[in-house]
Amino acid sequence: MVSCLWGRRRSNKSALSDPVDPNSKIVIVGAGIVGSAIAFQLTRRHRNVTVVEAKRPGSGATLASYAWINSRDKEPREYHDLNRRSLDMWPRFAKDLNADIGLRWGGEMRWTVTDKGAKSLLDQAEVLRSWGYPVVQVTKDQARAMEPGVVMEPFTSAVYCGIEGHVDTQRVVRTCLNHAQQAGADVISNDSVTSINTEPGAEAKSAATSVTLASGRELACDVLVLAAGYETTGLAAMAGIEFSQQTSPGATVVTEPLSPIFRNIVCMHMPRDLPEPLMNVRQFPDGSVMIHGGTHNGSIGDTSDDDAEKLMAQIAGFIPTLHGANVKEVRRGMRPMPEDGVPVIGFSESVPNLYLAVMHSGVTLAALTGEFATTEILDSSRIDILQPYRVERFSR
Ligand SMILES: Cc1cc2nc3c(=O)[nH]c(=O)nc-3n(C[C@H](O)[C@H](O)[C@H](O)COP(=O)(O)OP(=O)(O)OC[C@H]3O[C@@H](n4cnc5c(N)ncnc54)[C@H](O)[C@@H]3O)c2cc1C
Repeated sequence: MVSCLWGRRRSNKSALSDPVDPNSKIVIVGAGIVGSAIAFQLTRRHRNVTVVEAKRPGSGATLASYAWINSRDKEPREYHDLNRRSLDMWPRFAKDLNADIGLRWGGEMRWTVTDKGAKSLLDQAEVLRSWGYPVVQVTKDQARAMEPGVVMEPFTSAVYCGIEGHVDTQRVVRTCLNHAQQAGADVISNDSVTSINTEPGAEAKSAATSVTLASGRELACDVLVLAAGYETTGLAAMAGIEFSQQTSPGATVVTEPLSPIFRNIVCMHMPRDLPEPLMNVRQFPDGSVMIHGGTHNGSIGDTSDDDAEKLMAQIAGFIPTLHGANVKEVRRGMRPMPEDGVPVIGFSESVPNLYLAVMHSGVTLAALTGEFATTEILDSSRIDILQPYRVERFSR
């Protein structure tokens, strides 16, 4: 039987009293941006980490992501604050990664085409400002002067938020894992966890003792971190932990490199008071443009590339530089989205050595999650602003 320091030590003590043994084995399932950020932070503290990834690191939702770092449309207020805090932590995260991860700041602009849309946009901006989030109204002339390459017609209002940015998620994942490996972590790719093995602990709890991989390997663990995105629900169920997720497919289209489309901002949302699909646009440092098309409940069509071409034609009506641009890639992924729309982060009460990290806005939240998960795992702290995100909220 595999020894599980965590489960045994905790049997007669409060969950908060015992820091993890420095030699304990930590297995992270999933090498998207969330699992990779956690691996990076844990190995900065010299822990024994193994990352298991079913496919290629960064190839899940993290690849498809629009990767806009923001705290817009995040309610309730405490969830807005969580995202804002992570947004503010990104510069330090990037500095610690010490590599070009394609992080670009410069803000986001959006405008409206109807009076109703304008009222809704400006009301929302007012609320965000009252929360200390700097969304400002810009006039038609200001908006056009800022971004002459965008056809903003008709126009009823516009807002700009200068503190937002975007990042190249593939570079973030690569850099996190490179650092982790240099610090001794083992990264296993193209091999998936097929079972989580547990043993009974005290007080009707259990402990995760090992995971079995599709290849047949068994990895012992003292702490198990599930950061497998949409697949986390199925994995958690193997350890008797129940929570459900929304079904939220998403897609982004990436073009060949083009000349710069924006002069000041780095992200733009096309009018949300137009019929769907919603369209969001950003440009990578190499000039290729990513168009995010869809809603939180769906994405551009299903799986046909015709849909991507249709999206390109629609977006070119607003950004003429995109007219005739070749689509290089269509990226599709399932958003990790717990049923109530907010993250699941933290240790499970029923399996006290199993840590969950599942979230939408995982790009925005990666900076905070990597750091806070590490504090909770290694220091036996419970961070109060993470309290609303414990998995037990689904079973109570
Ligand atoms: C279209 C789209 C647009 C988005 N836009 C934004 C945005 O603008 N801003 C923002 O902040 N967020 C955005 N998101 C959300 C964000 O991308 C995700 O929250 C984030 O990428 C989740 O990262 P993750 O590491 O948790 O999951 P994933 O990237 O999905 O990684 C999970 C990994 O676990 C692996 N895995 C699964 N099962 C197993 C197993 N059994 N064994 C081993 N490995 C396994 C998978 O292969 C995968 O690589 C968007 C998402 C989508 C899809």
